[in-house]
Amino acid sequence: MTLNTQILKIREKFLHEYKEVKNSKDIERLKIEYLGKKGLLQSLMLFLKDASTEERPVFGKEINELKNEITIQLENGLISFLSKEEDKKLNNEEIDVTLPGRKNFQGRFHPLTLLMNEVIDIFVSMGFAVETGPDVDSDYYNFEALNFAKDHPARDMQDTFYLNDEMLLRTHTSNVQVRVMEKFKPPIRCIAPGKCFRNENISSRSHVFFHQVEMFYIDEKVTFASLLATMDEFCSKLFKKKIETRFRPSYFPFVEPGMEGDIKCIICSGQGCKVCKHSGWLEVFGAGMIHPEVLKSGGIDPEKYTGFAAGLGIERLAMLMYNIKDIRYFTQNDLKFLQQFDL
Ligand SMILES: [Zn+2]
Repeated sequence: MTLNTQILKIREKFLHEYKEVKNSKDIERLKIEYLGKKGLLQSLMLFLKDASTEERPVFGKEINELKNEITIQLENGLISFLSKEEDKKLNNEEIDVTLPGRKNFQGRFHPLTLLMNEVIDIFVSMGFAVETGPDVDSDYYNFEALNFAKDHPARDMQDTFYLNDEMLLRTHTSNVQVRVMEKFKPPIRCIAPGKCFRNENISSRSHVFFHQVEMFYIDEKVTFASLLATMDEFCSKLFKKKIETRFRPSYFPFVEPGMEGDIKCIICSGQGCKVCKHSGWLEVFGAGMIHPEVLKSGGIDPEKYTGFAAGLGIERLAMLMYNIKDIRYFTQNDLKFLQQFDL
């Protein structure tokens, strides 16, 4: 078989096989078969070296022409098939715009954390520093240093989880007060946010576990009027409108005089409604002037300095603000409840 016949045969074979091509994969296969390193056109080159000197350039030219023809045909074919295949794929993957989207569940803060942060931010903006104390504390810092002597009847007001004779779960964040007085000298403007624990029956209004923010200010000439003004300012900032406060005498061993603080009902503006039990007022915090004995526990001279303190229950505040009827909702981890809050 002459080289010329070989060239014509390969061309015919190619044209025949090309007619059978159905997709881009067939094109790739032909490319290897004809143009690959061990392909049919390469095999023609082996014959070329046996050709005579006159024939060699003629056949060389013919082989090159065939190579070009095959290359162009395969490249055009590949482009055309790839484009058809892409169209087909897109048609099959048509987007159904009526399908519901996938929900993206995002984490969020617990409503009590949101409110606690808000309370902290307001006090910080008023010049108060934030201090924290331990959840497990000694009887001394939780009671004794705060003017609850060992046999003080006021201890019965707070049912306590004792761990042993000396250690307990703090019943209020007031345990931070004397710790701060030991650390700093007046003037002291400080808040103590945190968890508290009391050994009480769990009901819609009370829980064994709750949050408080304790606030206190110690300096020369701190008066009851400063306490009133501070709480007025705080409440107006928290409720984002002018809020009136009032104090009623009450008793806590660590303050003298002791008070309970009310705000004018945020629902009815003092007209009387179900939430405020038609009194026009809502009880929000406990407060008073820091007892001289407590100042002494902290190494502060009560003849020179005075101070006030107030404690806010965060659960109670949240229940008022969002009209929540049961304190147990906060610890049930029900997403339907928790997802309502984006303060
Ligand atoms: Zn009301």
